[in-house]
Amino acid sequence: MSKVSSIQDGRRSQTRPQECKTVTSSILLEQFWRIDLSGPTTKDLSSHESTASVASHYYDVVILGAGLAGLTLARQLLMNSDKRILLLEKRSHIPPPHQKVGESNVQVQGYYLGKVLDLEEHLQREHYMKYNLRFYWTPPGQKNTNYEDYSQSYIRYLSNVPCYQLDRNKIEGELLRLNCQDPRFTFHAGVSHLDVVLAKSNGSHSVSFTFENRSNQIQADWVVDTSGRAKFLARRLGLTKSNPIRHGSTFFWVDGLLNIEKLTDLPQRERLLHKNHNKLGHVPAWLATNHFCGEGYWFWVIPLQGKTSLGLVYDNEIISPDAVSSPEKVIEWVFKEHPVFLHNLAKQKIIDQGLYRDFSYDCQQTISADRWALAGEAGRFTDPLYSPGGDLISLYNTLITDAILTQDKGTLAIKARLYELLMWALYEAYVPSYAVSYEVLGDQECFAMKYTWELTVYFTFYVFPFINQLFTDTVFVVPYLDLFARLGVLNNNLQNFITSYYRWKKARPVSSRDPIFFDFTSLEPLKKSEELFYEVGLSAPEAIKMLKHSMTNVEKLARFIAVYIYSVVLEDEDLISNKQLAETVKLDDLRFDPEAMRAECRSLETTKDPKLAKTGANFIAQFRQVTVHDRPARVTIPSAPVLSIAAGAKSA
Ligand SMILES: Cc1cc2nc3c(=O)[nH]c(=O)nc-3n(C[C@H](O)[C@H](O)[C@H](O)COP(=O)(O)OP(=O)(O)OC[C@H]3O[C@@H](n4cnc5c(N)ncnc54)[C@H](O)[C@@H]3O)c2cc1C
Repeated sequence: MSKVSSIQDGRRSQTRPQECKTVTSSILLEQFWRIDLSGPTTKDLSSHESTASVASHYYDVVILGAGLAGLTLARQLLMNSDKRILLLEKRSHIPPPHQKVGESNVQVQGYYLGKVLDLEEHLQREHYMKYNLRFYWTPPGQKNTNYEDYSQSYIRYLSNVPCYQLDRNKIEGELLRLNCQDPRFTFHAGVSHLDVVLAKSNGSHSVSFTFENRSNQIQADWVVDTSGRAKFLARRLGLTKSNPIRHGSTFFWVDGLLNIEKLTDLPQRERLLHKNHNKLGHVPAWLATNHFCGEGYWFWVIPLQGKTSLGLVYDNEIISPDAVSSPEKVIEWVFKEHPVFLHNLAKQKIIDQGLYRDFSYDCQQTISADRWALAGEAGRFTDPLYSPGGDLISLYNTLITDAILTQDKGTLAIKARLYELLMWALYEAYVPSYAVSYEVLGDQECFAMKYTWELTVYFTFYVFPFINQLFTDTVFVVPYLDLFARLGVLNNNLQNFITSYYRWKKARPVSSRDPIFFDFTSLEPLKKSEELFYEVGLSAPEAIKMLKHSMTNVEKLARFIAVYIYSVVLEDEDLISNKQLAETVKLDDLRFDPEAMRAECRSLETTKDPKLAKTGANFIAQFRQVTVHDRPARVTIPSAPVLSIAAGAKSA
């Protein structure tokens, strides 16, 4: 067992009532599957008395691990095929008595759970529908002891593709309950001595394990590993791989709701009539995934029904893991960085907790034409910022389901190569967001550029194809990967450029600032990319045409960001509307060198295009004045690390 998993498994639960409640539901589920799940295997096994007896059976698919990835994959297969599925789980209770981390979801996973897996009613009943992602900063010169003191960035309107704050234990319990209703599904919890012998090409895989003191050996057409951080198959096959992200997290749950809007000294009437509602409106902000940010870290506040999830995620180079290695240390740390929490956090009872000192990793391969695959944390994991974990489970499961349903061997061989490339590209595109520009979390303006860019790409290249069910259409995937690869170079350049600007700006701090309330969608290209949510039912060629068209929108945002940074650094507001600069700025070769940038701008024609500033009029109005104001003398800034990441550029 890895160091990380043993730390996670070694965490303590501090309240018996919470534990009892979860155990009770596990016991009910256990009784349920014992009574109702007597599929062929369970019946046959129950007829064997000897603990040494070996039962041999065949399944179409064996899934290893009953976490979110395994349970959702089983449901997707049951809903879309006539396959017989065996799900093997090491733990004896599913859902486990301890609270599980991984609660926030965004559009791809929201759509997958709600629509594809048809869980909308359960989601609406048992989990909060979320109010987007929201980010907070402590403006310099403010006391930051009241919620109203904080600068915020957010999207004011609810997403038309609903997303949720998942109580992981509840949803995993519901998935298991639903799967168990299908006679083609067999579930064994508490298995040990798991062994898998993978067959090459034609034969069946052999899976052996001990269940209820009996040895079992079964044959299976497909084996899918969803064993999470245990990485059962990846370790056996020597596929584990590191990545450049070295981040850690300490998280815990408190009893009851931590309502961030009530973290204030203001009486209720003043709080409700506060002028900030002119911008923010009245949807409860606590329904968002709330991020309290600083350089290289964020502290999450996620409401679950009856409890609140809290967690610090940090870059190990910026915050020492030892300084934040327990909830108590994190609370003390948060009180210093974000004193607004002094209002309540100390009073709320900690009911569960966990930590990872270094949680991110890659994997060399996640699907094979030899009929095995990895999904969820059994394969790759980047970082929880923006919640890509659940999205990648949704995407990988969809590709794995399609591969399992592909009968023809030649077609499967092609799909396995293509899907491997796609899975890698969808993961790899996130890496610069975490490896290159995490420190940018320390500044609202820089983060607004970073996140608006990333979200525009996400809506265009992840959500739009997913809601059109195009990732399993090979006619779509090939040109899609081509477009996506081009984006990889641009993404890497822009992330580096924003990071260098952040460092430059950090050396010129302002002494005080009023809170800024910034809606990300006031940057036009993001708003435009969200319109793709309403483009559904497109064929592969139509969607590619739409993506090519949207590429212009994505590039327009990149150009705006680059030119805006030029204008601030060179202290020349006219540059924002300079037609020639917008057209010629080299998006695939951006270099943050103020002198070179100045030289580049000297020869520009002065023709203006007022439309250029409109791309981010509100952004300029909110940030430019405060950014160019109150600067000390110039200092030399180290350039940002250069990382060579080109999404989709891997050879399969
Ligand atoms: C700090 C942090 C915060 C996160 N926050 C978010 C978030 O907000 N949103 C989001 O989408 N994602 C988030 N993630 C990621 C998310 O937690 C994962 O994507 C998700 O939990 C992975 O689910 P899984 O099914 O792969 O693994 P798990 O849920 O861990 O399930 C694996 C299962 O396999 C079982 N198992 C292990 N070994 C064996 C074996 N040998 N045989 C049989 N069974 C076995 C385990 O007991 C377990 O039940 C976060 C991750 C971290 C580290």
